Amino acid sequence: MENAVKVYNGKFLPKQGLDPSAYGVYPNSIREMEGVLVYMARESERDVLIAVGKSDFEGVPDAAGTDCVRAPLTHKNADILRQMFPFCAPRRVLGEKRTIGVGDRLGIATSGHIRAFRRFDALPVFAQQSIRELNLTGRTYEDVLDAATFAVFREGFSHTHGFGADGDHLKTPEEVKYALSRGYTIITLDCGEHIRASAMTDAEVSAAYTPWVREADYLEQSVRLDNAVLAFSAEEFRRMALIYGKAIEFAESVYHSLLSDADVDFEISIDETVAPTTPAQHYFVAKEMRDRGVKFASLAPRFCGEFQKGVDYVGDVKQFQREFQVHAKIAEHFGHKISVHSGSDKFKVFPVVGEETRFHLKTAGTSWLEAMRLVAMKDAPLYREVHRFALSALEDARRRYHVSADPSNIPDVSALADGELPSLFSQSDARQVIHITYGSILSAKAHDGSFLFRDRLFCLWRENEDAYAELLNAHIGRHLELLRCKAR
Ligand code: ZN
Repeated sequence: MENAVKVYNGKFLPKQGLDPSAYGVYPNSIREMEGVLVYMARESERDVLIAVGKSDFEGVPDAAGTDCVRAPLTHKNADILRQMFPFCAPRRVLGEKRTIGVGDRLGIATSGHIRAFRRFDALPVFAQQSIRELNLTGRTYEDVLDAATFAVFREGFSHTHGFGADGDHLKTPEEVKYALSRGYTIITLDCGEHIRASAMTDAEVSAAYTPWVREADYLEQSVRLDNAVLAFSAEEFRRMALIYGKAIEFAESVYHSLLSDADVDFEISIDETVAPTTPAQHYFVAKEMRDRGVKFASLAPRFCGEFQKGVDYVGDVKQFQREFQVHAKIAEHFGHKISVHSGSDKFKVFPVVGEETRFHLKTAGTSWLEAMRLVAMKDAPLYREVHRFALSALEDARRRYHVSADPSNIPDVSALADGELPSLFSQSDARQVIHITYGSILSAKAHDGSFLFRDRLFCLWRENEDAYAELLNAHIGRHLELLRCKAR
């Protein structure tokens, strides 16, 4: 900090109320562009931008009449930062080999994520939320991206790395338009609602099937990959066409109406289904997309086994490995990447995923769980309150998230000593309960309209910012390491 002030001694104008030492300048944030000095500083309640020189930042001008402005972290100021310093704006990243999405439901995790990504050769997607998450946290795509922009600026990350912004699990053309209009660089189209989920007998398949235009492409020859041969029997093909036909048409129409001219990476998600995506089905969907002129960067199949939120992989790792390798070959064949959803904490299968040179993996709620672990470490009474509330909100949350959590396996928080509370975050049932009840925890209100937990939680996280960043550095760092990302 001293250094920072010294370097810019000639430029900074410490007039009344603007003594630099009082501001807790973030040293990595200091930038200059066309004669304007901009940096971020810590104040007791929240961070603030300081701009010295003529600029468009909105804020409070220095009382002494200098060109110095104290600019709050507003959307307009985030836009200005993105224009002045393009490394603060998201870019397309899915063309890179290893990319990892790290959702931040609270808008406070990016600094910790940056610590981890500085250590490994993977590119981050810092802004990544589904519409479901936006609704449950009361945030907008502006909020999510702005939080990432401010953290990237604050930490000076970086002129060479860059980051992506993912409009995740978008289900309608309107949602796609919304993410596009806010500058998101990845559009993840969730085709799940167009995939036929119900089982069909052979007779039902025959009755419902109308001949597929390119049926002969599939039935007359088998597909040879390095590690598998895909062959399609007529019966299998017809069933597959009925299951995926509508989803293919949906993705095609969204692409041609909204995405073909947009400067974004397109991800096709077919993971939110009951049954795993077989390699033949993956091949079918990818080939249909290509044949219809749809350019896409990645495709998310549903893999065998269970990818439940916030806990390790459940299933046969050997089988996962065999199938994943075939999926990866199919992706290589068509030139897209495999995308692994619900990817947080899947430590058992990370080495398999990381064996492939190209992949995308998404984690979402695990950074929220680390924030709650911090609460358990720092404020036992508050944690107990939140924990009991989460148990009471579980049934409601289960309607939105599929988890197998059994609350009767969770130790009673009243019986645990303060120091034992963090160990709940090593217990799958407890992790899942906290993982999926975030919406209720953050929005719960008392009779007088005040938040039950929200304000106290954010206050705790603010006071323990560095500890939170270190938890994330370790936790996300462990993900990156097991995914075989190389140390920088
Ligand atoms: Zn998904």
